[in-house]
Formats: sequence, C-alpha cells, structure tokens
Amino acid sequence: MTEAVWSRQFGQARITVICEGTGWWPLERALAGVPEELWRPLVETDGENRKLISFNLVHVQTPGASILLDTGFGDFDPAAPNQSLVPVDHMQMTGGLDAGLSVLGIARGNITHVLISHMHADHIGGATRVIDGRRVPAFPNARYYVMQDEWDLAGTWHQPLAYVPEVAEAQKQALLTAGVVELVRGEREATAGIELIPAPGESPGHAIVRIATGGTPVYYLGDLFHQPAEFLHIDWMPRYKHAEMLIATRKQLLPRFVAEDAWLILAHEPLPAMGRVAPAGAAYRWIPFSA
Ligand SMILES: [Zn+2]
Repeated sequence: MTEAVWSRQFGQARITVICEGTGWWPLERALAGVPEELWRPLVETDGENRKLISFNLVHVQTPGASILLDTGFGDFDPAAPNQSLVPVDHMQMTGGLDAGLSVLGIARGNITHVLISHMHADHIGGATRVIDGRRVPAFPNARYYVMQDEWDLAGTWHQPLAYVPEVAEAQKQALLTAGVVELVRGEREATAGIELIPAPGESPGHAIVRIATGGTPVYYLGDLFHQPAEFLHIDWMPRYKHAEMLIATRKQLLPRFVAEDAWLILAHEPLPAMGRVAPAGAAYRWIPFSA
C-alpha cells in the first residue's frame, strides 16, 4: 500500500497530494491500441499486464486560502462490487480525503476554494455529499470553480468506462441549488497565485491548475497525462478520449512546462505523483521528484 499523503512547501504554498486509493489498471485500457512490444520497456506491470494506478487529489494552503484541487470519489464507492465508476481491478481505498485533511489539521469548513479539473466521477464525486437525505456541497464555505465547457458538455461525451453521467449530474444539481459555482472561460485566477488553465481532450472542458506563489511554479495536471509513458509518446492515452484534441493540448502546454522548469502533479500516478519533464528527441521524458 502506498502512502496516503505527501506534502511539501513550494514558495508560499504548502502542497499536499492525497491518495484516495489504488488499483491495477489493465494496459489494454490504459494505453489503448499500443502494442505490447512498445509499452513493455516503459511501463512497470504486474503478471497480468496491469499498471498500479493511484487516485489523487490535491490540497494547497496559501497565506490567504485553503484550496482543494478536485474532490475525489466522495460517497461514490469505487471499491463496491459491480461498480462501474473506474475501469481498474482490486481497488483498495485509503482513509481518503477526510483522513488526508485531518493529517493537515483542516476541517471541510476551512476550504475556501474548490477547483475541478473535470467532471469524471473520480474527480468530482466528492464535491457534494448527502446530509439528512439532501445532497449539499461537501465544503460548505467554498466557491467551486469549473470550466463553462465542462459544465455544459461533460455529459454529452461518450465515455462508458471512466465516466458515469449520473454522478456529474447529481453534483451539478446540488452545486447549482446552493449557488456556489463559478463558471470559468479561458485562463482565470481563482485566488492569489492559483490559476485555472483550459486543457481540453480528456473531457470537453478539462482544465489544469497553475500554482505560483514564489519560486518554481507547480502544475496540477488532472488527466492531461495519465502516466509518465505518455510524455514520451504524446499520442498514447486510455480509450474514449478525444485523441486529436488531447494531443493538440499536450503539444501546446509541454513547452510551457519545460520553459518554466515547473513541477507537475499527476492525478493517477502513485505518490508523490510529482516530477518534471525534459525534452527527449521529438518528445519529453518524465523525471520523478527528488528532494
Ligand atoms: Zn481521472
């Protein structure tokens, strides 16, 4: 079992990656259409050609705000029998978001901003929860930031494996009723040093988050990349993504990450889930975090 929480200071921001759970992801789904002889030298797998996958979300503490980047599964249990929320085997859950926040000494009511990378179940499931039979925001004092395109179009994309439209719909209704949503177009600073940046492809309004509070910037990439091998082959991805759009977004953003020598956080890599990229021929290679 991997560690459930990993935390470091970057500039004025304390950044904590929280792992909600891990599972084993069949490569035939994780890298659809990529022949085994190509992925074999690059991806570590178990005996059944499955890669270890983590389900991460991020907390950022700045001097003025307590920010959550994605919300995890919430009360949708991906480890339940016959679930179809995530296409992985042998899900093992950690103490999840509440355990992660308690390590930090933070209560749900302390969260001031919730930024959503996209509305797939493993990222938005925890945005709301049911209290006394009513679905309400899970972070009662927070404003929620979502790209307008994601809000409008997420349910129209056909992604039968990783995405359950009812999950997103339930979140939308509850957030709308509570009047806590900020719909974002283009790049937008949510609070000092924390910026949403459009990065479509995984979903129509997928966004990444740039954290810049002094020193090297850090990007939370959501599902712009799902595993390090995708940096070396930017056309590798799971099934059911918008391939052309995702590749175009990757091509556009990778030079920016290199130019800024930025730290990058992946939503689905085991902790610390952080690294940098460097040019490697026509593509990029992943350099895991080291202190
Ligand atoms: Zn995801």
